[in-house]
Amino acid sequence: MPVKKVILITGGAGFLGSHLCDWFIARGFYVIALDNLITGSSKNIAHLLSHKHFRFMKHNISKPVRLGGRLDYVLHFASPASPVDYMNHPIETMMAGAQGTQNTLELARAKKATFMLASTSEVYGDPLEHPQKESYWGHVNPNGPRSVYDEAKRYAEALTLAYEKVHRIPVKIVRIFNTYGPRMQINDGRVVPNFIDQILHHRPLTVYGRGNQTRSFCYVDDLIKGITKLLFSKLCGPVNIGNPREFTILEFARLVRKIYNPQAKIIFLPLPPDDPRQRCPDIRLARQKLNWEPKIPLQQGIQMTMEWFAKYHP
Ligand code: UDP
Repeated sequence: MPVKKVILITGGAGFLGSHLCDWFIARGFYVIALDNLITGSSKNIAHLLSHKHFRFMKHNISKPVRLGGRLDYVLHFASPASPVDYMNHPIETMMAGAQGTQNTLELARAKKATFMLASTSEVYGDPLEHPQKESYWGHVNPNGPRSVYDEAKRYAEALTLAYEKVHRIPVKIVRIFNTYGPRMQINDGRVVPNFIDQILHHRPLTVYGRGNQTRSFCYVDDLIKGITKLLFSKLCGPVNIGNPREFTILEFARLVRKIYNPQAKIIFLPLPPDDPRQRCPDIRLARQKLNWEPKIPLQQGIQMTMEWFAKYHP
């Protein structure tokens, strides 16, 4: 019998991490999910705990980690990732991006494993170039409220490439744009769970500022396909993975209202500081080199997400 490939996923109990665990378990890998549960939830992996090829380690990746045995892939996805979460945990966020990246890179080096860093569209900050290509350097406030996340991920990208250069380990960097779907936290403050929660509980939809800032939303299954294609490709990255269909937040609120409750009110609240005005990935690199693009239309993805929230957060 062939020996199973072993993959470590930090942040494995988080929104994206838990979907990655499912993807690799379904394809016959041995999966180790590591998480300190600061923003992740054991509920996201409860269905995997009894699987004989799955192991959960409660550990803070900002501290070094030791693992016996073989390891083929290390995916570093651990970090608070919503603005509310990383502003509530600013030091933990910096450490997950800084020491967490170093600890996982060291592990990958020791095990001769392929390393992947979950980076973010936040490395582009409040972008002056639109849509954002991987070659764009970004426009980031180094000490604003988002800086703990943005700068930690920028440092993490630099450290990953330094390890590749010095230690010659295979590395991959994925820049993840706004993603939504089942297992998001209902209270992480992001626009998709907020609007869904508000619809489900007959409350007004809260639009920050005038709602003319833009985002583009990728359904989680599309994103996981993009990430795994990058992992098994020859490409190192950074590669943008996200949905290039751009909406203003007000358009998005009106769409949600139209589908679910045309009577719902939209109220306008102050825009948080340093909220990026425009964000949309240029995904030509992923299209050309990975033959990947998102397939799930927003309306369909929102419906699947709504059903999940209605079931688990009624
Ligand atoms: N937003 C909003 N209403 C909400 C939550 C968020 O208008 O209830 C806005 C927020 O100001 C931002 C956009 O929606 O412009 C996306 O916010 P989110 O926190 O989802 O992610 P971000 O892309 O800012 O990291």
